[in-house]
Amino acid sequence: MNKNQTSKHHQLIIIGAGGSGLMAAVTARDMGIDAAIIERNDRVGKKVLTTGNGRCNITNESTATGTDEAVALSRKYHSNQAGFPLPVLQQFGVRKTIDHFLTLGLPLISLEDGRMYPMSLQAASVLDIFQLALDDRNVPVYFKNIVLDVIYSPNHPRFTIICQTETEEQAVYTSEYLFLCTGGLTAPKTGTDGSGYELAQRLGHTLVHPVPGIVQLKLDYPHLKELSGIKFEGWGHIIVRDDVIRSEYGEILFTDYGISGPPILQLSRKAAFQLAKEESVILSVDLMPGRTEEEVVDFLETRWGVFGHRTVADSFIGIINRKLIPILLKEAGIDQEPHLLCQDLSWKTKKKFYRLLKQWEFKVTDTNSFTNAQTTAGGIDTTELKEGTLESKLVPGLYLAGEVMDVDGDCGGYNLQWAWSSGYVAAKSLANHLSGV
Ligand SMILES: Cc1cc2nc3c(=O)[nH]c(=O)nc-3n(C[C@H](O)[C@H](O)[C@H](O)COP(=O)(O)OP(=O)(O)OC[C@H]3O[C@@H](n4cnc5c(N)ncnc54)[C@H](O)[C@@H]3O)c2cc1C
Repeated sequence: MNKNQTSKHHQLIIIGAGGSGLMAAVTARDMGIDAAIIERNDRVGKKVLTTGNGRCNITNESTATGTDEAVALSRKYHSNQAGFPLPVLQQFGVRKTIDHFLTLGLPLISLEDGRMYPMSLQAASVLDIFQLALDDRNVPVYFKNIVLDVIYSPNHPRFTIICQTETEEQAVYTSEYLFLCTGGLTAPKTGTDGSGYELAQRLGHTLVHPVPGIVQLKLDYPHLKELSGIKFEGWGHIIVRDDVIRSEYGEILFTDYGISGPPILQLSRKAAFQLAKEESVILSVDLMPGRTEEEVVDFLETRWGVFGHRTVADSFIGIINRKLIPILLKEAGIDQEPHLLCQDLSWKTKKKFYRLLKQWEFKVTDTNSFTNAQTTAGGIDTTELKEGTLESKLVPGLYLAGEVMDVDGDCGGYNLQWAWSSGYVAAKSLANHLSGV
């Protein structure tokens, strides 16, 4: 070690003071483990601050009603290894999360769709509570340390962690156990630049190609500027090779680059993975979700019969967003006939309208970038981790928690829930291992 290097040893070092790292540190300390955190930022949980529009949607209690909470909860998660999240969620699910935050001093409240937030409705209070919990337990956090490399040795100490500090001096930390809680690639300004993937890969792990999740979609459509700002309540379906691979319902919003809104964010991970495989991806939207195709035909036939004397454009007033009408006319090829009456509509044009209202198809060209995404789909391959403990099968003493691994959740508090659950379980598993359980 040269004279500019500082060195500290802890039983457990946790890289990353995000949701999973904070939960792991507090839990580990409570179980008698000498834990410390290394964080590149100058404060804990920078990303948590931005969550839930500044209110932090901590978890979601809508799955916590039945007898098998964990099974219902596990359906909100995605991974190449579908069953991987369940044993983690069985150990630390929504109920335990609510109780745990209460014991830390943070009561939660439930708002829309079971989404839970801190009672203060301020994300900052989640971090303040964690900082207080770390202080209460004397858990050191080495801020402004960017981990550049981790060296594993079968001897003691097992892990040597090499960091760059703000003074350009290198800091070297050693530990017997290491938790990688470095997050994925989303919102890189909060400290997550994918360096955790590189550290894991250098230790022998494999990366499942990461793509942006919970993100808006870009569409190839010539009239996006005219559509931009239009909202509607409806279905969105992702179609690949003529198969619908996922459908979601809710408020959809056209934007000047494409499309957004809760259902689109939920659909985005499927679209992103297919685009990464260079598949052609279609988004089909249903503007009349309350009616079947047959009912739409009946409804319009009746309407056009009763109001045969009105223009086609006027026949849509009151049933769809007014701004959509000129674009639908364009799509049906009658925008050059503004005075065309309903009674004069051809069968061919009518069929185009039926299709547009139930299955309006758009070509998806891309997702927005990781900068706009809320989560990373993909990550370190979970087949290389022990189920239910999160310890690496390749490197003894290494555990992963949070978004760094190939597990991502739906929108609605499920990604933070994964951070809490996996952070807790990694710490608990290490404590069990140390006590020989
Ligand atoms: C805008 C936005 C809104 C969101 N809203 C919600 C929501 O309301 N509800 C919800 O459930 N989820 C939400 N999410 C997702 C959720 O925030 C993340 O899934 C979760 O925070 C991931 O936790 P983590 O501990 O795995 O990683 P992170 O919180 O990303 O933390 C990783 C930490 O590791 C540090 N780090 C990384 N590499 C290094 C290194 N080499 N050296 C040192 N430190 C390093 C980073 O600085 C960071 O502090 C949102 C995400 C975004 C971007």
